[in-house]
Amino acid sequence: MTNRFKLAPQVIGVVLLFVLGGCAASAEHVASPPAAVAANVSAPAVSVSASDLQALVNEAHAQFKGVTDGAPADYIPELAKVPADLFGVAIVTARGEVYTAGDVDYPFSIQSVSKPFTAALVMQQQGSDAIAQKIGVEPTGLKFNSILATQIIPQVSVNPLVNSGAIASVSMVQAKTAKERFNTILDFFDRLSAAKLTVIEDVYKSEAATNQRNRAHAYILAASDRIYSDPMEAVDVYTRQCSIGVTAKQLGVMGATLANGGVNPMTGQRVLDAKYVPRVLAIMMMAGFYNESGMWAYTAGLPGKTGVGGGIVAVVPGKMAIVGFSPRLNDAGNSVRSTKAIEYITDRLGLNLFGSGK
Ligand code: GLN
Repeated sequence: MTNRFKLAPQVIGVVLLFVLGGCAASAEHVASPPAAVAANVSAPAVSVSASDLQALVNEAHAQFKGVTDGAPADYIPELAKVPADLFGVAIVTARGEVYTAGDVDYPFSIQSVSKPFTAALVMQQQGSDAIAQKIGVEPTGLKFNSILATQIIPQVSVNPLVNSGAIASVSMVQAKTAKERFNTILDFFDRLSAAKLTVIEDVYKSEAATNQRNRAHAYILAASDRIYSDPMEAVDVYTRQCSIGVTAKQLGVMGATLANGGVNPMTGQRVLDAKYVPRVLAIMMMAGFYNESGMWAYTAGLPGKTGVGGGIVAVVPGKMAIVGFSPRLNDAGNSVRSTKAIEYITDRLGLNLFGSGK
């Protein structure tokens, strides 16, 4: 890691440790929670100054802006139309301070980044054992849409972060109708993001017309009683969920809510019981990057989740969420520039969970 990046002079002064107490925020914040909410947020202040954090986000953006490796997803035709050059980087702290660079207000489809949040909703409704017993939490080591994985791991649906497990997760959300199920998910995402999110209809229609593979997953699950609503209904709600539009900033708030123990730092509202947060982060650590989860853990050492819309959120418990958005993906379906930008920030700030912070 140390050899991979040269330390730029403007961040040499960045303090690499995060300690209790710390600096007050400066005027450089792009957005902050209302003062009354900030007073209720229990997360400690980040000891790196606001201007240094902003400089680091700018630097991560500048450093990888020129990278054009990979290609936007095209198996969902509408995704190929998203401008490939978009690139945004955001940090949202567990206290609700926001630092951004680039295209952080462009709504892109959340895609698989939705998966851990729906798993969280199921935990909130039914407890975390329900996810372990009815879906499973083992990483597959295979691609996110691997039919083989769904077939060879028969006792569970594999885990909630690959397509089959995510469709099973959606099927577990308690509701009387598919519409109510989707609205329950959307409402949960609204509370996580402190925003009013909407479906990008063109992405939904495009994926709904081409999601035969996901329908196959649902039928394989149904054949062994591992899906918990009508299978095609589950696929449809899942497809809608994947088409929800978020900006990098909004995704940052969703991640910051996890970083803040389940309390949204912008609203002060508890969205998820604190006891479920480590469960959600554990599955993100083990399977958030699909068949690249091992390499991601090896380099970044943080729970993270990617999506084929180009978004990635990484969570530093108690401290912050780091988000990247850039549509060009590698072979595993993970955004190239987002991965690099988050790794860069993580490395600079010494955030790897397995490190001593020194
Ligand atoms: N909606 C996409 C699918 O089901 C999500 C995949 C992803 O983001 N990796 O294929």
